[in-house]
Amino acid sequence: MSVEPLIFELSSPGRRGVRIPAPDVPHTELPVDLQRERLDWPEVSEIDVVRHFTRVSQKNHAIDINFYPLGSCTMKYNPKINERVARLDGLANLHPLAPEATAQGALELMYELQEILDEISGFDAVTLQPAAGALGEFTGCLVIKAWHADRGEAHRTKMLIPDSAHGTNPATARMAGFDVVTVPSDIRGNTDLDAVRELVGPDTAGLMITNPNTLGLWDEHITQIIDAVHEAGGLVYNDGANFNAILGIASPGDLGIDVMHFNLHKTFSTPHGGGGPGSGPVGVTAELADYLPGPVVTKIDEEDGPRFAWTNPPKSVGRLHAFNGNFGMHVRAYTYIRMHGASGLRQISEDAVLNANYLRTRLHETYHVPFDRTCMHEFVATASMQKQQHGVKTLDIAKRLLDFGIHPPTTYFPLIVPEALMIEPTETESRESLDYFVDAMLQIAQEAEESPETVTSAPHTTEFKRLDEVGANRNLNLRWVPEREKEAVAAD
Ligand SMILES: *Cc1c(COP(=O)(O)O)cnc(C)c1O
Repeated sequence: MSVEPLIFELSSPGRRGVRIPAPDVPHTELPVDLQRERLDWPEVSEIDVVRHFTRVSQKNHAIDINFYPLGSCTMKYNPKINERVARLDGLANLHPLAPEATAQGALELMYELQEILDEISGFDAVTLQPAAGALGEFTGCLVIKAWHADRGEAHRTKMLIPDSAHGTNPATARMAGFDVVTVPSDIRGNTDLDAVRELVGPDTAGLMITNPNTLGLWDEHITQIIDAVHEAGGLVYNDGANFNAILGIASPGDLGIDVMHFNLHKTFSTPHGGGGPGSGPVGVTAELADYLPGPVVTKIDEEDGPRFAWTNPPKSVGRLHAFNGNFGMHVRAYTYIRMHGASGLRQISEDAVLNANYLRTRLHETYHVPFDRTCMHEFVATASMQKQQHGVKTLDIAKRLLDFGIHPPTTYFPLIVPEALMIEPTETESRESLDYFVDAMLQIAQEAEESPETVTSAPHTTEFKRLDEVGANRNLNLRWVPEREKEAVAAD
């Protein structure tokens, strides 16, 4: 006899989760399509729903379960105070079309967040509209393009992008109509300064740099690079995904950067992915402020105190998000920043950098670190030694880490490091969790030598083993289909 667990098909005709009170308004007929009998929705009780989602949540990894060193993504802990504040009635239930006069508190919060981001980054104006880093990049590119066009320099069509950049950089530059020119990295992992000097010219719109870069390294020639681009008449965009390394320590605006996005879901602890959405505000210098997407919040001083209002920058590139961006994320990031204060923000970066260097120095004799110098908040190791000597690839190591309950680092990125393992611990991890990760990585290296098949056949303890990732991409199946619908299809 086999006992089948209750897993997915839980629907039972007539079962209810909630009972809605008798209406106090007149009945009206719903369109036939929307009538309950016509909808193929599961009929389940409240406990069925709770158990289902609790069970499903346990099949995946989460920052609330264990270490999550996914490089470049800054998977720091999302403090629960953020969630409490974001759920306050006056914030959570505010209608996006509420008139200014009744939304002054929310506008003030957004205004203050704009001001705080300006202050931390050294810029003069910020838009909170973009929904993610990538949309921030696109916004920045549109601003750069509009600025050149306004000065009669629309012929500046080339955007320089280092070969270590995140794929969104060339993608967004291209979407904004630029031609991408790739800049090589030098032997110390910097953007190659000589190459930048050679490549810039009268057709240069700008350079999109990531500093600290995706190798987790501070660019040793950042000011010379910025100068070279400026001297050629271009602007410099900084991909701010790695801002977690330099809060309160280095200021991109003061360095000479013209435009940068912030990833609130990385640096400022708002949730990623399923707990999202994200938010990618963009900061610019004073001379670019007029081009920002509108509206932005402005403060108008009046006799009886300040008033907050929506205004459109005069040369705005237009709107990039419905309503005012992902307001719930603004609330969370604002809470996080106010909770830490200026010295707390600096401490975040100091601890993030310390944690990354701790992992690097404990692992660099076992895993090769190609650009092995003091890193910022992350570093890139490679399994190329393990692959050459034992046939154990980065993918195998990533899968084996799942058996330790650890989310793998970012793999195979940046593209300039073969078999890359990009490791970012963040500041929120304790010494114990860092040591646990190191121990797991050292054990895996030993297994690679002594019993490589333990690693190459991993994971062993997860609910699902190796997935057919190509198949999953080719045959997307994202929607639950009720049994009776499947039967109906089969019968056709
Ligand atoms: C995450 C990331 C991006 C894109 O940001 P999203 O918010 O995911 O759109 C761009 N560049 C780098 C280096 C990143 O790590």
